[in-house]
This record gives sequence, C-alpha cells and structure tokens, in this order.
Amino acid sequence: MIAPDADFIIIGSGPAGVSAAFPLIAAGRRVLMLDAGNDAGPQEENRSVRVLGSDLESLRGDDGSSPKLQTPAARGILEPFRRQSGISGNGFTPIGSLARGGLSNIWGAQVSYLDAEDIADWPIDIASLQRSYEHVAKRIGISNNADVAADAAGEPVLPLGATAAHVLRKHHAETPADGSFRLYPAINAILSQARPGRAACDLRGDCLYGCPSGAIYNSRQDLLLLRQSPHFRLLDNMRAVSLIRSAGWIVGTADGSSFSAPKIILAAGVLGTAGLLADLLPIDEQGLRLLNSPTLAIPLLSPARLLRPATPTHSLAELGLSLRYGEGASDYVTGAIYEVGSLPAQSFINRMPLGRRAGRAAFETIASSLLVATIYYPGDQSRSYIHRDAATGKRLTVRGGFADGFGLRAEALKKALRREWKRLGLIPLPGASLAEPGVDAHFAGTLPMGATGAFGTSSDGELNLHPGLHIVDGSVIPDLSSKYITMTIMANADRIAHRLAETEAKPAL
Ligand SMILES: Cc1cc2nc3c(=O)[nH]c(=O)nc-3n(C[C@H](O)[C@H](O)[C@H](O)COP(=O)(O)OP(=O)(O)OC[C@H]3O[C@@H](n4cnc5c(N)ncnc54)[C@H](O)[C@@H]3O)c2cc1C
Ligand code: SF4
Repeated sequence: MIAPDADFIIIGSGPAGVSAAFPLIAAGRRVLMLDAGNDAGPQEENRSVRVLGSDLESLRGDDGSSPKLQTPAARGILEPFRRQSGISGNGFTPIGSLARGGLSNIWGAQVSYLDAEDIADWPIDIASLQRSYEHVAKRIGISNNADVAADAAGEPVLPLGATAAHVLRKHHAETPADGSFRLYPAINAILSQARPGRAACDLRGDCLYGCPSGAIYNSRQDLLLLRQSPHFRLLDNMRAVSLIRSAGWIVGTADGSSFSAPKIILAAGVLGTAGLLADLLPIDEQGLRLLNSPTLAIPLLSPARLLRPATPTHSLAELGLSLRYGEGASDYVTGAIYEVGSLPAQSFINRMPLGRRAGRAAFETIASSLLVATIYYPGDQSRSYIHRDAATGKRLTVRGGFADGFGLRAEALKKALRREWKRLGLIPLPGASLAEPGVDAHFAGTLPMGATGAFGTSSDGELNLHPGLHIVDGSVIPDLSSKYITMTIMANADRIAHRLAETEAKPAL
C-alpha cells in the first residue's frame, strides 16, 4: 500500500478547517490541508480599488441583494463558488466560497455563544463546548463595543458610534415594552489591541471593503501560524471533487491529483461539503434538509441624531438584540444594529421611495442618524432542502422556503419590535425586507451530530455511513438557534479535533 500523505486531510481553510487543524498539529499529527483557493486575497492596498473594484464593478446596478454581498470583496469571494460548485438555488441564494479563508474574508465578525439550553438536544455537554469557545476566542481576538462615555471597565473595547450609544442609553433609561427584549453592545472578532501581524482597529469604518489592517479576524491569518509547524502542509488550488474509500480515504482533486489519509476532515462549508458528499449519500426525492436563518432587515431613523456628526467607529455590528416570540426554548430572534454612515450608499438610495438624485441628497442629510437592524430567526423557521438535479444526477439545487405560519409570526414580531423602536426613539423607515433564504449565510443541520441513519454523524462528526469521514463545519450542528453561528462552528471543530487528536490515527478499515 502507498504510504498515506498525512494522518488527516482537512478540506477547506475557512474558520472550521483552521480550528480543526490547531489541536491536531499540537498533538503531533501530520495534517494536509487542501483548499480550492489560493494566496491571492482581498488585501488590496489601494482604497479606491477596494471600494470600487478593479473593474469598477461597484458602479454596476444594485442587484437587490444585501449591501454586504455587493462589495468587490464579496463578489470576488462568492462568484467562483457560484460558477464552479455545481450548486444552484431555487428561491435560495447558495452562498459559499472557494477561497483561502472561506467566507471569513467577508464575514460580519459578530460573535455569539450558545448556552446549555441552546444545545439541550445535542450529544455533547456544554462544558466541552465552553472549553473550546475559550480556545477559539483567545486565538482570534474578541472585542466588546462599549459606550466609552459611560464605562470601559478595563476590558478590550471599541467605542460605540454616537447614534448606537444614544440608543443604548435610551434602552437603559426605560423598561422594555416586552420583558424579553434585550439590547447590548455587540461582541465582534475585531482587535482593539494590536497582535503580531494584525493591527488594532483604526475606526475608519471601511470594514465592508476588506479590512486592510487585519483587525477583523480572517482564518487566512491562522494559516500563517499553522504553516510554521513542521506537521502542517497547505496545498492551494486543490478543489476536491471526489472521495473514494480504499484502505483509508482518497481525495481526488479537479486537476487530477489524489491524496490519501486514514481520516478525512470535511470543512468545505455546509454547501461545499454537501456537494462533495452528494455521491456518497442516498439523497432521495425529498432532498437533504438544510437549516438556515430567515432574515429581516429594518432601516431605522433616530430623529434625535439628525444632523449631528458621526463619530469614528467600525461599520460592523454596533449593538446586539434578542426578543422572544414563543414559549419554546429556541423561540427567540437575535439581531444586530449597524450605523449606516459607512455602508454602501447606493444600496440605501435604491431602496428609498425617491428619485436617485433626491435619494442621494436625502441620504447625505440623514446618514448619521440612520441605523439598520438585521433580525435572524432560528433554523426551524426555514424549510430549505438540497436536491439532486434529476436530469444530470450530478448538480445540486437548494430549494428555499419558510416554515408554515412563518408570515404570521414575522408580522407579530415586527409589531412587537415597533413598540421597542418607539421606546428607543427610533422610526422604522419604509424598505424593511425579508431576505431570500440563503442570503443569511447561516447554514447548519444537513448531517446532524447524534442523528441515526444515513445522514447522521457521531458526536465526533463522523458520518454513520462512512467511518473515517469526519465533518467539522456547520453541517453537523444539529439545530440552528438564531444566534450567530460561526463561533460555535469553530468551537465544535476545535472540540472534535481534540477528540481525534487523542485517538490513534489508524486506517478506517
Ligand atoms: C457576508 C457574510 C457575513 C457574515 N457574517 C457573520 C457574522 O457576523 N457572524 C457569524 O457568526 N457568521 C457570519 N457569517 C457566516 C460565516 O462566514 C460562516 O459561518 C463561516 O465562514 C463558515 O466557516 P466554514 O469554515 O465552515 O466555511 P467557509 O468559510 O465557507 O470555508 C470553506 C472553505 O472550504 C474551501 N472549499 C470549499 N469547497 C472545497 C472543495 N471542493 N475543495 C477544496 N476546498 C474547498 C473553501 O475554499 C474555503 O476555504 C457571514 C457570512 C457572510 C457571507
Ligand atoms: S474600521 Fe473596520 S476596516 Fe478599519 S481597521 Fe477597524 S475593523 Fe478594519
């Protein structure tokens, strides 16, 4: 038998892949990481290129998707996946990446932590997840936003923008209309203090165009550290296209190469992993259930802040919020509030009930008093399925949808939120919109840990049907709460890799 190329092959260099790699190399395991992307990244120094794009693509018409998906950086990450993944959408935007660092090149970096109630049905205990949260938080760097005018308490903090700080003060001054409503400074994976190779946030607000200083966490940064280990090897431009079981597993790549290892760790993102496993899973007519978070965006005006100057801050989430809409453990929405000043103006102007010129004039007058709230529902409010294309049997199509009764629940929630906006002195503007499923990019649950049957995985993310294939991305997260998911994906990957590092790297058969 030919000697395996490594003890573990990890497919994907996004947040999940790098989080799995660290514990394995620390335990002396040989890790080969294959990634479809390469070193060419969005670290373009020239600001005009970052904002407008090298082909001036930002000046093309607004395609109606979220502003954060329309920047040159976002288009550059998302388009190769759209073209090459063989995954299309029907009432669903299939967001994925074929880039070094994955979607962390363009993510919003907001961080949430699940609690014991959130994972009550998972086959793992909260203590093991919390240990891994700590490992990951230390590695990536986390900051709280803070109203520095009020208190900073010695913690690593970044200043809230003036409009967000004003709203938070109003919240603290008056009792919420709904007792379950929470509003708090957002927690983001942004550095407030420099680290080797990464500067602290400069508060210039260019975040959506690719953070040039590395203050926002991007898993590319971890690859620099991983590559210092003699146990770690990264091969770029290696798009995995097949997985074949032999003495262990053989990964075939688009350029005709193949690599073998006793264990394969799939970290290609939920859609990428589904694409890779399509031939190994009995996906029938009903399709493979995919959990995503229905997402609502609500523009808000703070009249008290009209014509007041904006203060320097980043343009990621300023505030976090949550509100219950039912009695069930997961019946709550989570959201974020952004200051609009440094978001792409065109996306807002196009949504205003005014002509372009009048829209621009209005936008410039009110920008510093504008906020946008994005609200995420839990995955059980989605009805999305991955289907095999009947004609070719090769391509996958994701059909998106919402749970029965979602429309009524969404209306009731908007009403409950309107009471809170009023209390906070905020006026909801026309243009609130429910995003097409998929735009949320919060995906989970296709191959849940603890489930029995062909689509289930063990608590170590190992496919029931295929020993030796472990999955560490969102696919194995059993249920999707409305909280931001990536910190949990990373922590779960870290947890699984610690468990794998403890086991002997024997061939799977
Ligand atoms: C605009 C935007 C904003 C977001 N904001 C937030 C946020 O604020 N908070 C939050 O928690 N989450 C956020 N997310 C979601 C977050 O980006 C993802 O949850 C996270 O990146 C998932 O990590 P991953 O490693 O599982 O997958 P990915 O980041 O998708 O990485 C997948 C990796 O696999 C590689 N790959 C894929 N297919 C193959 C193949 N066939 N062969 C080889 N390599 C392959 C890719 O090149 C890539 O390196 C956001 C996403 C988007 C798009
Ligand atoms: S403001 Fe945004 S882009 Fe600028 S350093 Fe801070 S996080 Fe990065």
